[in-house]
Amino acid sequence: MRNEQNNKLKKNKAILKSKKSIVETYKVICEFHEKYLKQFGVKLPKLYNSQNVFTKNALVLVYLAHNYPNTRKVTKEELTRFVRSYYPNTNDVQQARHLGAQTGWWIVAGGRDNIVLDIERGTYQLYTLEQPYPSFKKGHRISKTDTWDTIKEKYGFRCAVCGSQEGKPHLHWPATKTVLQKGHMDPNKPLLAGNIIPQCQKCNRGDRNRWVYNEKGRVIKLADANFVKNFDKNVRQKIYRVLYNEFKGKNPNLEKNL
Ligand SMILES: [Zn+2]
Repeated sequence: MRNEQNNKLKKNKAILKSKKSIVETYKVICEFHEKYLKQFGVKLPKLYNSQNVFTKNALVLVYLAHNYPNTRKVTKEELTRFVRSYYPNTNDVQQARHLGAQTGWWIVAGGRDNIVLDIERGTYQLYTLEQPYPSFKKGHRISKTDTWDTIKEKYGFRCAVCGSQEGKPHLHWPATKTVLQKGHMDPNKPLLAGNIIPQCQKCNRGDRNRWVYNEKGRVIKLADANFVKNFDKNVRQKIYRVLYNEFKGKNPNLEKNL
């Protein structure tokens, strides 16, 4: 039984090592990309680099798409071994992760909080070539030409921060009807598409101008320096140390005035 499995494995690797099969699988990927994925902005990696060698991204994608639609889970080590047959100095293949969340291919990374496939940490599986990675389609990639209605639609007519739905009772104040307003992502920049997320009237209160939000409605930065005054003393001390080191003990505001 084990021998049979080993043979299978060897056969499998042999198939993937042939350049012809790589080109053929890539062609299949191209067809699906053209038909289903291109429209969502999913990027197709080039097959060859300028030296006419397969690119790492293409190798990883082809490896994961092998035998599509009957894909299987692949460990990071296996991917690394495969990429090494073209790039012997490769230590750690990050491509599978990048091709997923960032480039838009629906590659499931195991062990995270994915709810799509039951695969363990350190393994990857191509889920489908007919749909982009979920956040590419439904998610919150706001374009500068989006209208307010389009922006709200992208968020399912919910507040980006707390998730309360327009016209429905507020999640945290059930007696309040949720009203969606144009919220700044960065309050120090103008309220224009590209800097707007839908926020309910509670999350969009004036004091929220303290924060910079990302497209997922998460706070990523402080927008109002004065808010530092509200921090605990030990945090303020640490901030002082960071700034003291950054500006080498000199007052940067004084230097500017000189
Ligand atoms: Zn809210």
